[in-house]
Amino acid sequence: MNQLEKLKKLKKEKNAIILAHYYQNADVQDVADYVGDSYYLSEVGRDSDADIIVYCGVKFMAESAKILSPEKKVLFPAHGDATCCMEHQATPGLVLEMKKAHPNAKVITYINSSSEVKAVSDACCTSSSALKIVENIDADEIIFVPDQNLASYVAEQTDKKIIPFDGQCNVHHKVTLENIKKLIEEHGDIEILAHPECQKEIRDISTYVGSTAGILNYAKTSPNKEFIVVTERGIQHQLKKDSPEKSFYFPYMICSPMKRVFIETIIDALENEKCEVIMDEELIKKAKVSLLNMHKYAGG
Ligand code: SF4
Repeated sequence: MNQLEKLKKLKKEKNAIILAHYYQNADVQDVADYVGDSYYLSEVGRDSDADIIVYCGVKFMAESAKILSPEKKVLFPAHGDATCCMEHQATPGLVLEMKKAHPNAKVITYINSSSEVKAVSDACCTSSSALKIVENIDADEIIFVPDQNLASYVAEQTDKKIIPFDGQCNVHHKVTLENIKKLIEEHGDIEILAHPECQKEIRDISTYVGSTAGILNYAKTSPNKEFIVVTERGIQHQLKKDSPEKSFYFPYMICSPMKRVFIETIIDALENEKCEVIMDEELIKKAKVSLLNMHKYAGG
């Protein structure tokens, strides 16, 4: 029996599903039952009747799946420290300090954060749902944690006061205008599709700014054939699947924590029910409120 047959058999025997983020290695995306961005995957995990969820992504995603479905076994088969850099930037203490300084503000926290920070937040959001949640939450002042670029992107589109935390994604934030100008020199003045975690100067020259799911949808439906894509390179796999005839050019953007899941580790985790996400019940209870509010305010 080859690896893929073994995996299929294990999934059936254990009533398991595999969820994978678009930034995962291509072969991992190919064996997943669902591939998507963090918002979509959070809904799939919550609504699934599987007994086991194998989450291929980074730690905050697997923990979010556990928080939303504490009765399910969530396995996170990643090698080493597979955490998003933003999980380490905001701390509950820093968020509570901001709250003290702005007592009328509500805290909206990007899902890319630790469970402890989610536990002191009013609602979570993802890049695709952030604006909707800001608009729908009952406060005129919002403390937005931890991504300053997503915060400024949202601030450009709302009349509400956005108070940003000073954090950012190391992969998206480091891309410069010069990097993009170089790609334009090489490939011509083609459409630029950027993630809102990019800096404002990149967003300002982009044709489209949106989540990974939004970028995929834009590229698929656009009549154009060539694009500069400013997000993590793993998305190329799905872009090419959707539109094999189109060309996509990237600045150097690799999120190494996202690349720590392999077929072998998935099989090993599922076969031996290893790498289980274990969380404190009280933390689950507190963090769940902000995740449920994310779905409530986003209408999901
Ligand atoms: S690409 Fe950035 S935001 Fe996404 S997981 Fe990696 S470090 Fe976090």
